[in-house]
Amino acid sequence: MAKKKVVSLEGAVKTDAGLTYKGVVMAPVVEKCEGCERVAEVEGEKFCPTYAQPEKKWAHGVCNFATHVRAEMDKGGKVKVNPLKASKRAARGR
Ligand code: SF4
Repeated sequence: MAKKKVVSLEGAVKTDAGLTYKGVVMAPVVEKCEGCERVAEVEGEKFCPTYAQPEKKWAHGVCNFATHVRAEMDKGGKVKVNPLKASKRAARGR
């Protein structure tokens, strides 16, 4: 069985600037992070313990830390995002 790694943002502090963790201001996750196992919830808001600015991470294409999607380049060099779980579901025909 695969070991489940629990990622937490223990010790994160809410400030006027937003949530800070180890001195870094964290931005909430973006829509594209939905489904990623790394998302951690702090006081009702979702954050990424791996990347403080998820929006910027996705602005360059696909987050390379994402656990729910994988990026692939098509022939034209464009980044394609493949949802991992959804594709598995489709393969099972459900
Ligand atoms: S690892 Fe990437 S996809 Fe996952 S929550 Fe963080 S920024 Fe979002």
